[in-house]
Amino acid sequence: MQPPAASPTDDPARLRELVDAIPGVERVRDAAGALPIYLVGGVVRDLMLGRERSDLDVVVEGDAEALARRLGGEAIGYQRFATAKVTLEGLEFDLARARAESYARPGALPDVRSATLHEDLARRDFSINAMAIPLHAEPNLIDPHGGRADLDSGAIRVLHERSFIEDPTRALRAARYSARFSFTVDPGTERLARETDLSTVSEDRIEAELLKLAAEPRARAGFEQLDAWGLVALPQGSGELIDAVAALAQRAPWKGEVDAVLAVHAAATGRAPGAAGRLRDMLGSAREIAAASPSRPSDAVELASGRGGIELILARALGAEWLDRFMTEWRDVGLEITGEDLLAAGVPEGPAVGAGLAEALRRKLDGEISERAEELRVALDAAAP
Ligand code: ATP
Repeated sequence: MQPPAASPTDDPARLRELVDAIPGVERVRDAAGALPIYLVGGVVRDLMLGRERSDLDVVVEGDAEALARRLGGEAIGYQRFATAKVTLEGLEFDLARARAESYARPGALPDVRSATLHEDLARRDFSINAMAIPLHAEPNLIDPHGGRADLDSGAIRVLHERSFIEDPTRALRAARYSARFSFTVDPGTERLARETDLSTVSEDRIEAELLKLAAEPRARAGFEQLDAWGLVALPQGSGELIDAVAALAQRAPWKGEVDAVLAVHAAATGRAPGAAGRLRDMLGSAREIAAASPSRPSDAVELASGRGGIELILARALGAEWLDRFMTEWRDVGLEITGEDLLAAGVPEGPAVGAGLAEALRRKLDGEISERAEELRVALDAAAP
């Protein structure tokens, strides 16, 4: 049998090498001076997994804002949570004072007080996100919750039984990490996920988590897991639709025209984000478009124009292949004549002008006319009383 691959944590010299190779580490060290500072959370997890990332989460046992100022760059302080974000040369530093949290009621935002690093790790969501590496001392893995073992076995595990009661959005995060890393959710954690009550959380917070899930390459697996737990109700056929929309969004003519994350989110929830977006059954409208089979380009344009890109890509993924031609050709067809030409030819101001132009455009779309003179003739005929 093959011995398990050596983890960087087994070899202090290797761990030091890896930490030193993280872009930005040297700068934070210099800026921190004697302050005790630690890499925490996602950056430690991803270091162990050999995954690169462009942001650095740092916990300070002391004043995070002072550290942000010393780092330079653009610092935005968030008083309430004693955190600061600094962007420097394309790197993002998330600096936070070590803190403990308590929850006035389930789902509420936490009350925060300064704390030790160990208390800070104990408030985190999953063991794989609750590890730290000191930067002010010799690097070693601080892993009070067994995160390293869970990384090795591929498990998502909460730190305590009340985790999803305190913050139900963590159950949504569990599905996201499980999808991202193809990890299994530990059975105890899965039981808690199935019992999670999202009703204590605002729709905006739920949506923010679902949008993060929608940005994952394996979003479908995550949404299906949430569906199995009863935390989201995926519309019929949504799994295939998520994959189809994600694939379409990466290729012409849809790439660059629609936001892939919003499209996947819509495939999973049927809606756009935001209070107004949530009111509208976008998937229902997309199904209506997909159910129609326009026989002429002008019918296609009538169906598709004025609709948002997300609705259209959903309809395309549901089978409306003609929408590719709408995107590449038909939606750009315009007339050479304008309303001014009709007025100049004696058409009275009013609905007749619009009706004339609309008829000319229809005929042009359907390939029945092409010249300017023909456009004018058709428009004048249609505008005649
Ligand atoms: P990603 O790679 O998705 O950015 P991340 O681990 O950096 O993952 P963030 O959402 O940036 O995720 O959070 C940073 C860290 O803060 C997490 O690793 C986790 O330790 C902690 N954290 C974030 N959200 C929660 C939460 N709702 N409850 C507890 N801890 C959290």
